[in-house]
Amino acid sequence: MTGPIEGWAGPASLGEGSVLTVVGAPHPVLARLGDPVDPTDPAVIRLAADLFATMAVSPGCVGLAAPQVGVSAQLFVVDVGAHPKTATLHGSFALCNATVVEASRWRPGREGCMSVPDLTGDVKRASRVVVTGQLPGSGQSVTITTDAFEARALQHEIDHCSGKLFLDRVSSAHAIYQRKVYL
Ligand SMILES: [Zn+2]
Repeated sequence: MTGPIEGWAGPASLGEGSVLTVVGAPHPVLARLGDPVDPTDPAVIRLAADLFATMAVSPGCVGLAAPQVGVSAQLFVVDVGAHPKTATLHGSFALCNATVVEASRWRPGREGCMSVPDLTGDVKRASRVVVTGQLPGSGQSVTITTDAFEARALQHEIDHCSGKLFLDRVSSAHAIYQRKVYL
């Protein structure tokens, strides 16, 4: 179950990206439905490379979506490799126009977001999902079956692409927590 996505040549295949500035809530781009993208468009390939570069310099970041760098588009990157709650793992990958086609085994879990740096929240997500989308570069369609923390990260990023934050998914205000401040 664990291993790279077939047909995905890895982040380096997109070329070198630049680190972009991450926008925070309540920026309107975070609340907008992202535009569908052409995965073979050079601008989309460059943006995917930029998202990888930005994720790489952000400690603890397990995923980043185009709206978080101010671009209203259905594109995101994910890499949950370092997280202790990961089971199935597909490594570092990007997806265009992704949709959840199957979702089951709903469980609550704590989430954070680079665009909501001061808060975390308990969000109920499917712990098993099937997601379809296209790979930037080749444009190849892929189907990803995953679980546990990778499933949660995919749902969180797909939400970003449709203008939703984890704060929109928490069950109540009691499920939102202030992050500890380290002086
Ligand atoms: Zn987020």
